[in-house]
This record gives sequence, C-alpha cells and structure tokens, in this order.
Amino acid sequence: MTRTSAPDARLPLRLLATSDVHVHLLNYDYYADRPADDMGLSLTATLIAEARQESRNSLLFDNGDFLQGNPLGDYIVHSGAMRAGHVHPAIRAMNRLGYDAATLGNHEFNYGLDQLLDSLQGAEFPIVSANVLRRLGATPAQDETLLPPHVLLERELRDDAGQIHRLKIAVIGFAPPQILQWDRMLLQGRIETRGILETAEALVPQLRAAGADLVVALSHSGIGAMDRDSWAENATTALATVPGIDAIIAGHSHRVFPAPTFEEIEGVDPMAGTIFGKPVVMPGFNGSHLGVIDLDLRQDAQGRWQVAAAKAAARAVQGAGIQPSAAVERAVCLEHDATVAFARRTVGETMIPLHSYFALVNPAAALRVVAEAQVRHVRKQLQGRPEAALPLLSAASPFKAGGRGGPRNFVDIPAGPMALRHVADLYIFPNTIAALRLTGAELADWLENSMGIYRQIQPGLADQPLIDPEFPSYNHDRILGLTFDIDLASPARYDRFGVLRDPAAQRVHNLRHNGQPLDPAAEFILATNSYRAAGCGGYTAARPERIVDVGRAPIRDILLGFVRDTAPVALWQGGSFGFLPMPGTSVQFETGRDALPYLDEIAHFTPEPLCPTDDGFLSFRLHL
Ligand code: MN
Ligand code: MG
Repeated sequence: MTRTSAPDARLPLRLLATSDVHVHLLNYDYYADRPADDMGLSLTATLIAEARQESRNSLLFDNGDFLQGNPLGDYIVHSGAMRAGHVHPAIRAMNRLGYDAATLGNHEFNYGLDQLLDSLQGAEFPIVSANVLRRLGATPAQDETLLPPHVLLERELRDDAGQIHRLKIAVIGFAPPQILQWDRMLLQGRIETRGILETAEALVPQLRAAGADLVVALSHSGIGAMDRDSWAENATTALATVPGIDAIIAGHSHRVFPAPTFEEIEGVDPMAGTIFGKPVVMPGFNGSHLGVIDLDLRQDAQGRWQVAAAKAAARAVQGAGIQPSAAVERAVCLEHDATVAFARRTVGETMIPLHSYFALVNPAAALRVVAEAQVRHVRKQLQGRPEAALPLLSAASPFKAGGRGGPRNFVDIPAGPMALRHVADLYIFPNTIAALRLTGAELADWLENSMGIYRQIQPGLADQPLIDPEFPSYNHDRILGLTFDIDLASPARYDRFGVLRDPAAQRVHNLRHNGQPLDPAAEFILATNSYRAAGCGGYTAARPERIVDVGRAPIRDILLGFVRDTAPVALWQGGSFGFLPMPGTSVQFETGRDALPYLDEIAHFTPEPLCPTDDGFLSFRLHL
C-alpha cells in the first residue's frame, strides 16, 4: 500500500546494474594469468558500495550472462561442484553483494539446462525470466516459464523529508529467444522461447494491474534500430515503447550506454541515456562498468508514483582509482585459487608462437591449430563410414581479434610449454564439435558470407579502415583445406548479420582445393562447431539435414588432446588466402599492444606504424 504524504514529496530511487559479467568475479585475467584493472565484479562491487552511499534508496540488479565466459566458469563445471550441492561462486558473490533480482542471459544455457538449474541453487535473490519457457502456450499468459517470469519487490523507501513509503517494484526479465538456435543441441525439445516484445506487451499490463508502482525490465538484449520482429537480437529499443515500463537495464551486446560514442539510432539518445524517453543503461561487460539509473519519483493527486525525472550513467571501473572488494574476494577465493592452479597445468607444448594479432589479414597458426584438431577428431569419428570417402575441410574463426574486447583481446601464446589456460585462450567458447555435408558451391558462398568482415576498399585511396567493427569476428570463418584470393574492391555479398545484400558480388576468387579449382558440384565434409552448425552467423547452408553425426565432444577437449599429442609446429605453410594486389592503395589496420614482435609476419604489406588509437590499439598502414 502506498501512503499519501505531503503532495510535493520527492522520492529518489537509484537502480544499480551489472550485465554480462561472464564469471569475471575477480579482477583477474586467467588467460594472461595476471590481475586486470579494467574488469571484475570485485571492482564493480566497490563502485556499488560508493553508489549506494550516495543515495538513500537503491536496488541492485544483474542482467544475465554471469555463469559462463572464463576459465573460472569452466572450472566450476569441470569440478562437478554444483552436482555436489555447492553454491556457485557467482551466486555466492551476488548474495554477498545483496542483489535484489537478476535475469538469465544466453550464455547461462551453454553448459546445458541441468547444470544451469544446479548453478542457480542457493541464490538469495529472485532470478526471473519471462520468455524462456518449459512450454509455449497459446498466449504469453498461458506460457509455462522455466523460472518465475517476474517478481514484485516490496521495499520501504525514504523520501527527501525522511518519511517512509512502501513501494512495489516489479522486475521482469528477458533473454534472447535465439538461445534455441545458439544452443540447439543442448536445448532442443527441452525448452521454448517467445519474442521479447510480445512477451512484454502481454505481461507488463498485468504487473501494473497487480499493483506495481514501478516496472523495471532486465533486458538481456542490445540496443539497435527499431525492430518489432520477435527474433530481433537487439530488442531493447522496441521494448522501450511498451507502456508501463519505467526503466530498462540492457546488455548482451557488451556495449556501454549511455556513451558519447554510441551511434545515432532513431529514438535513442546516447547522451541523455534514454530510448523513447525511458531511462536505459548498459553496463559494458566482464564487470567493466556499473549501470546507474536515478529516478526522481513524485506522487500524483491519486497517490500514484510517477517518474518525474530520470538520469542514466555508466561508471567505469578502469581509472576510478578503486580497490577490489574484500567481501567478493573472500566469497570466491577458494575457486579462484583452484582455477589458477587448474589453468596453469602444463598440457603440452608448441614449437611456434600462437597468436591472433594478424589473424584478420594473414593466415594464423592460432586458427590453424584449432582447424587441424577438428580434422583429426572428425576423421576418427567418420572412420568406416561412407562420409569418410569425402574430402574433409575444417572451419575456424578468430574469436579474439580485438574489436569491442579491446587491445588485449588477442591470443598470445609464446613458443614453449602450453598450459591449460593457453588452450582455453585459443578456444574461449564451450562449443562442441559438429560436421556438415556441403557442396563446393555452398562452401564458396560460405566464404563470401565470412568476407563481410572487410569494408569495401576504393582502389588508389590511402588509409581506408579495413575491418567493419560491427562484424563479430566469431562469425568470420576460415576454411582449412581451401586456398583463395580476396578482392577487397568488391562489395560484400552478405551484410554483418549474414543477410544476402548483393547476390552478384564476389570477393573470393581463385578458390582451390588440393591445387585444383573447387568443383561447385563436389561434396565435402566441413568440420565446424555446434554454434555454426546451427546456422548462426547467417550461414544458411548449415541446415539440420546437412549435419553429419560426429558426437558432441567439447572442442576444447579435442584441442587439448591435439596439443598433448602433436606439439604444433610450423603450421599453415604457404598460406591459404591473400588479398588481390591493389597498387597505390593502403588500409588502416588495428591490432594489439604486444603485436610488434610478430610484425615481420606481415612484411608483404610493408606495414607503417600510425598513431595508436584512443582505446590503446596499435594502428598500421598496410599496402595492398
Ligand atoms: Mn554476454
Ligand atoms: Mg549475451
């Protein structure tokens, strides 16, 4: 119940939020095996404590993708601790920080449904998800959800005059409906999903009818152009149009909002931090930022609370001059120490450095080793079967190639002994192996889709940016076993979402297999991963009927066995692709801070250093 008070009572309410923490509970980079100053919930926790002190009323939310994403998350699953009834360290840290509610992201499903439900045990805060379903009903109201769709938090809040009011704050959560595709092998037949917008349009009025004074949406979805499609991946913009929602926590795309660098989108005000007038915040990833939305609540003549003004901000941990939270460190120190020891175990050796600094412009040993490991595994699986007669190819993507992940987001493994953390670095996702039966024509088109990562380059111009930063590098496939040339002067056939834009466009030329032109009608087996085999990245040839059963071993385990048995040496001789020469033309290419020792690998581009970028990338002029 709301008690009416002085008609001009002002009630400040601060909403704090994390999103996409990805098990970065401590400010530690397990791949590089060193502390970090730009991420970790232990640092965000210090910002949380500061932000709570500044406001008389605050609530704390997490927006999903908290269980997967680094060796700590893998170690927890590997150790079987959840089966033994332990509380997941991410949950333990969130309990300690006093989260008020959370929702699920897509990566929560990467280890399977049973592991997920075990991992949520022991949460002392509600975890809500309105569109992840055990059973899809005729209408959203008839859906059977996996978790509670929403929660009504009752909180005593103090107004500016010190008077206490009891408010009901509804919290509703949304995950990308695409989890069904992204983790098809794990989820098929076990759960269903519904579009974010249609779910919100049906349920938010019910929350209002149930007496909610405020509705907060936890939207594990990005901010993009207005898209009312139920499969929109960036649904937050459309969600902001749903009447009755007062504030939105966004995420999933690992961006920061509000931020002056955010692109112009209709309805989106990246300086004010609003979308169609509603306050929205997106707090980066890995605990890099704390989202802060300040609501100024006033009561109307009927005693109903209204948002009179709102302000959103994202506060970065880097450069804030803060110490990590001892409470978070204490909550997770056992698993942290075990993960560090686990990740340091020597598992093999490499005779050559494996790095991804130039993986977008040059064949890279770091990709070759993944592709070769997949080949070895699939060949064994196909033994004695008719598919064994078909030529075997293998696709791999540069997962860590800078971009949004920043200038440290590269693989960098020196020659010598290899630790488990190095293998985890080479393959950061918990994908499983998969194989597809494809024609030569489909493979040629596959590569055209992949080439969308390059911008179209005008012959004769200098310093043109080469890479489209919006194209996720994990959707850029290289195919081991094929050689080809790339014509950067041609437009891309597909856009960054894998949507066909220009059917006549052709960037891939001189496509060869075993030195012979690729026969469009010939059949091949392509070793790949579960994500790609589900068609993700717009690879439409990856249809269910093309899948060849090769088991479901995690690719990281396959890679581990390969490294243990073979000690990678002198890989990818002769190269598998190059750019067609464009005399008098140069491009600008950004790479990691520690790329210099390897610069001779791209000597054929006669690289010239340019000024490093504001965000710390090294920048080079490459001559095509
Ligand atoms: Mn995420
Ligand atoms: Mg996500």
